[in-house]
Amino acid sequence: MRFAAGLLALAALATGLTACGGSGSSSIVDKAKDDKKLTIGVKIDQPGWGLKKPDGGFAGFDVDVAKYVAKELGVPESGITFKEAQSANREPFIQQGQVDMVIATYSITDERKKKISFAGPYLVTGQDILVRADDTSITGVESLKDKKVCGAQGSSSPKRLADKFGPDWEAKNLTQQQGYGACLPLLENKQVDAISTDATILAGFAAQFPGKFKLVGQPFSEERYGIGIKLDDKAGRDAINNAIEKFFKDGSWRKAIDTNLGEFGKYFTTPPSVDRY
Ligand code: GLU
Repeated sequence: MRFAAGLLALAALATGLTACGGSGSSSIVDKAKDDKKLTIGVKIDQPGWGLKKPDGGFAGFDVDVAKYVAKELGVPESGITFKEAQSANREPFIQQGQVDMVIATYSITDERKKKISFAGPYLVTGQDILVRADDTSITGVESLKDKKVCGAQGSSSPKRLADKFGPDWEAKNLTQQQGYGACLPLLENKQVDAISTDATILAGFAAQFPGKFKLVGQPFSEERYGIGIKLDDKAGRDAINNAIEKFFKDGSWRKAIDTNLGEFGKYFTTPPSVDRY
């Protein structure tokens, strides 16, 4: 009996030790400090936001945010491993520890906050519509009632339309792809009439293919972009929020907008305030 109790006590002690020292429960702050390395999930098919270049490097506003925040946490650019994030795998990537953070046009929502934590917001945009350049029939979200629309799985954008127009519309009119880049050929070939997601992402596509597509420019939601990390990593949220505030204050936010967004950058005049929950 006594021996068994002793074993149990030892086992409990060992579990306790793992919980303190193991990377599973520790903050991203300690991980960055100790390893000088971070794995960060970014989009790879969204020009201006997260784009994988032919040379294997990554570019975009979110990539610049990632580099800045990593540096503030003590991780040099050479210590960052960028990993492709898709709309649908962002929460599981964080929950399973496949990435330390996700910076991928990632809207802060209450539903997602049950699974992961968010620092930020670092930018605010709205859901909008991209159409073929010669289309005059789509003037705002109401026009989509009898149109075919493409969105990305796991993204909040198609969900908003499905909630608005109902299950019949969703079954008949909505096509979902793995990413927004995959919607572009469908729009061009007239398999769909519109792509609907954040104006930021759509403006990047419109700029990439001048004369082919146009942004409708009638936003119908508020999307607050946050940085996703493990649920309940409060120290991590605080440290990243500090980094984001420094990013705003020292001019880096403005610079990242001007470098990555071109003409569209003029719509972003002042940074949002971070939400320290
Ligand atoms: N910001 C929206 C979201 O997080 C749409 C863009 C995206 O899926 O990356 O779902």
